[in-house]
Amino acid sequence: MKICFATNNKKKIEEVVAELGSSLTILSLADIGCTEELPETGATLEANALEKAQYVKDKYGIDCFADDTGLEVYALGGAPGVYSGRFAGEPRSDQRNMDLLLKKLDGLTERKARFKTVFSLILGSNHYSFEGIAEGEITTERSGEGGFGYDPIFKPNGMDKTFAELSMQEKNEISHRGMAVRKLIYFLSKL
Ligand code: IMP
Repeated sequence: MKICFATNNKKKIEEVVAELGSSLTILSLADIGCTEELPETGATLEANALEKAQYVKDKYGIDCFADDTGLEVYALGGAPGVYSGRFAGEPRSDQRNMDLLLKKLDGLTERKARFKTVFSLILGSNHYSFEGIAEGEITTERSGEGGFGYDPIFKPNGMDKTFAELSMQEKNEISHRGMAVRKLIYFLSKL
């Protein structure tokens, strides 16, 4: 089965492909000839994931899935949440986003946070959604070179390393995206 993963983020594609095995072939946006930015105007992760997947389905006529991920920091009332990518404004920058978050939490001991991912899958005229959550805390400084986004400052519960210090396989085992994509794979395997 061939299906498009509607994202321009190569790291996300690598993480998802690593979980898939050989049952499913992932087409990237480049593979289907989609070079434009996908719309992301929703107020929730669910709405954004569906909007991206629906855009690709409508314009390219191909079954696809898209994800949207947010980092929810408890001491900030769940911010940046759906605005995680644009936390420090445009153009988007992982480094400036991390700097801003570390500044906002400066001096705070309450640093609990969670990543939440929603995958939206469109098959024919049906739509399904799958969620994954990883609980942890925001560190006081960056550690590690792996992963992407906020990984260098997110330490998952039960580990003394940040996501950026884990291998991709180690991150996938416990991450929000790993959890959500395993639900999606299980669903597809039952079709
Ligand atoms: P989006 O799902 O691409 O919209 O991601 C929103 C923001 O969360 C961006 O700043 C991403 O870099 C960040 N992000 C998404 N997934 C992860 C992850 O697995 N680790 C760290 N940051 C992430």
